[in-house]
Amino acid sequence: MSYIEPHAHMVSRTTDDYEKLALAGCEALCEPAFWAGFDRSSPQAFHDYFRQLTEVEPARAAKFAIRHFCWLCINPKEADDPGFAREVMTLLPDFLDKPNVLGIGEIGLNKNTRNELAIFEEHVQLALDRGLPVLIHTPHLEDKLKGTRIMLDSLANFSGLDPSMVIIDHVEEHTVRMVLDAGHWAGMTLYPESKCTPSRAIDILETEGLERIWMNSACDWGVSDPLAVPRCMLEMKRRGYSRETIRKVAFDNPRDFLSASTNFNLDI
Ligand SMILES: [Zn+2]
Repeated sequence: MSYIEPHAHMVSRTTDDYEKLALAGCEALCEPAFWAGFDRSSPQAFHDYFRQLTEVEPARAAKFAIRHFCWLCINPKEADDPGFAREVMTLLPDFLDKPNVLGIGEIGLNKNTRNELAIFEEHVQLALDRGLPVLIHTPHLEDKLKGTRIMLDSLANFSGLDPSMVIIDHVEEHTVRMVLDAGHWAGMTLYPESKCTPSRAIDILETEGLERIWMNSACDWGVSDPLAVPRCMLEMKRRGYSRETIRKVAFDNPRDFLSASTNFNLDI
């Protein structure tokens, strides 16, 4: 069955993974800019990374008839050095007009510091100024609830920000409702060990409903599974969900949110 993978870090994955995604029915994937597993030594390293996201990965994906889109920013972890972060942000305008760029992301908080919040808000303002959607990363484990609250409060203070232009990713049982109640979209990340397992994600769909929610693998350089979304679709099928319902969560919902970007289209 066709699906969209809305969050995958393909710079860390092999070409075989692209083939597996294509065989599993992936029609399009989206790659947010993120931490590389180590801190970059210079803003120039981000220039190269943004080229990878806007030139190299789309070409790798195209070999398997997958549309590749990306989101650009400096990630929350490296944003804790505001001087460095602002230097990286000066690179963004040149890249935001590239044809596969959807918007600003994944911005957010890592350890909920003041510096991270300042850079988060500067990114949101940039997105507002350019009319772009925003993809937000929420912190891990014990920092998640507090970080999600801080960002929801911050977003509510931006006059003119349409909450439906923002997706807050890596939600779990204790954060999903507050995100949806604020009018934003919510992303569930299917990880083998942390965040949401497929079973927990389906339980969340059963308690919270199917509106303004998507699921993704967020596969990267760590323990993660590029096929997590089709595995969850299979689990939904086992639980007796209809084809239409599975398609809504795995294809229609991401397509609807991503269409907030004029660069999103599924024609190869
Ligand atoms: Zn990510």
